[in-house]
Amino acid sequence: MVPVREVLDRREQFLNPRATKAMAMLRLPFATTGCVLMGRKLRTPERTTYVEEGLIGRLHLSETRMLAATPAVLRRICAAVEARTMALPQLCEAIVALQGVAEGMLFEGERDMLWRCFGVPVYEQWLGLDGELLAWECGAHQGLHFQTGRAELEEVAGELVLTSWYGLRTPVLRLGTGFAAEADPQVCRCGDDRPMVRGLRPYKLREQRVLCAAAG
Ligand SMILES: [Zn+2]
Repeated sequence: MVPVREVLDRREQFLNPRATKAMAMLRLPFATTGCVLMGRKLRTPERTTYVEEGLIGRLHLSETRMLAATPAVLRRICAAVEARTMALPQLCEAIVALQGVAEGMLFEGERDMLWRCFGVPVYEQWLGLDGELLAWECGAHQGLHFQTGRAELEEVAGELVLTSWYGLRTPVLRLGTGFAAEADPQVCRCGDDRPMVRGLRPYKLREQRVLCAAAG
């Protein structure tokens, strides 16, 4: 098992020089009339534009109806909207939270924060090291559908261990992701029968809490 920190700290040692440099594709929960992607460079579907993080201050000038961004970028935008230094009046479709092994997750309560701040549904996604989509939230909002066939998840001592058959630039077998989650065997209301993961969260945080509780 390879701890994720080891891969992120020494990324060049894990890169496959023979793999295609083609980027993974952003997948949106539904067709958009104008989406902005920030924080993670991916190939974009129609009517989606990648905007550099440094141009965050100009976001209000765009017709952003859907916003797909990493947790760090979403926090920055949210803070600016709440401080009334930015407004996104066109944002009416969705927020797509691009979480990942490298990008990290929304913290507890931040999903509600996004809802309060933007007033549109939040669709969480979970990306692998090459930006490949590993799991996504559908319109039923019951959890994340895991992309079986592209990747495999195991649970080792409570931690999610990932093997991705799709991420070929950074091929890792049995990557200790630093996340924990529950598997849900029930078929989702949306009819997609791929297995769902619920309650995706940092693995260590929870462990620490348990330790703190025990110490207290
Ligand atoms: Zn579903």
